[in-house]
Amino acid sequence: TPRVFSGAQPSGNMHLGNYLGAFKNWGKLQDDYECLYCVVDLHAITVWQDPARLAAQTREAAAAYIAAGVDPERAILFNQSRVAGHAELSWMFNCVARIGWLNRMTQFKDKAGKNREKVSVGLYVYPTLMAADILLYKGTHVPVGEDQKQHLELTQDIAQKFNHDFGREVFPIVEPIITGEATRVMSLRDGTKKMSKSEPSDMTRINLTDDADTIAQKFRKARTDAEPLPETADGLDDRAEARNLVNIYAALADLPVAEVLGQFAGKGFKDFKDALVDVAVAHLSPVTGEMARLMGDPATLDAILDRGAEKAAALAEPVLDEVKETIGLLGAGRRG
Ligand code: ATP
Ligand code: MG
Repeated sequence: TPRVFSGAQPSGNMHLGNYLGAFKNWGKLQDDYECLYCVVDLHAITVWQDPARLAAQTREAAAAYIAAGVDPERAILFNQSRVAGHAELSWMFNCVARIGWLNRMTQFKDKAGKNREKVSVGLYVYPTLMAADILLYKGTHVPVGEDQKQHLELTQDIAQKFNHDFGREVFPIVEPIITGEATRVMSLRDGTKKMSKSEPSDMTRINLTDDADTIAQKFRKARTDAEPLPETADGLDDRAEARNLVNIYAALADLPVAEVLGQFAGKGFKDFKDALVDVAVAHLSPVTGEMARLMGDPATLDAILDRGAEKAAALAEPVLDEVKETIGLLGAGRRG
């Protein structure tokens, strides 16, 4: 059966890229698929997280999912560390994945930078944990931003090697779902870098907790060039910052890029940014308002996450038993 799995790290600063690349697309999928939406707290701790803030950040992520359209009655919403199978299966996948495969991962290279020897081992094996997240539920479809494409290819490689090594079709082939006009939202200050939670400068991103004035200020200060907007999308080639703002507008207004350019061709960025601020505030304020309301009631969020963890654990149990039995681990399926 087709099953959707996706998640985001509770590393603070949920932003417009997370929203447009991921959460915004999650609600619709509930009509056609069984969906699991996970707050991946074990992924978040691959870099330092303040223990005093991690719980609040986890609730914030859950609130963002719900505000964007995830329905905890229809989808399974939970945090990763509550289901031990994620960590267990990721260990087994560490024994399937090859070091050469991980060495090719661009996210690790970007995040580690020049500090390759000093980052955590967890950051290095991040992709095997991600494969475990999905395959623990035999997930078949994964809605993500474009930056996660390479990790999903690695997930496919792990599933295939596992099935091949043990001569059994245990895992399905996972398909990415990368949709919308803004599958890779870029930094507002540098069109060559993606918008990220972990980027220190707050001016590079629109946070889902920003108020209307902050959103306006950030877009007005966003880097652009001096040319007017072009008539067609190829006029945005080599204009990364301009392209990014046009894509954001298109995604927020639910219009094709061509139509946005039809409306603004020949105009300067001053006018375009004013319109962008209006669209962004109109689209985001119901989402951010609902998020704030949900975060004001942590007990309800915790109850939702409790219930989700229970349901997720029930789905994971038979899969993990099958995997252990396949590998030959003694006592698979026996409890206690
Ligand atoms: P971090 O910098 O801590 O890795 P992040 O901003 O990359 O944070 P993640 O939790 O790693 O956020 O990713 C959550 C989801 O958001 C993933 O599906 C990812 O593909 C998507 N995503 C992240 N950044 C962007 C972006 N700039 N544009 C589109 N989608 C994005
Ligand atoms: Mg990321």
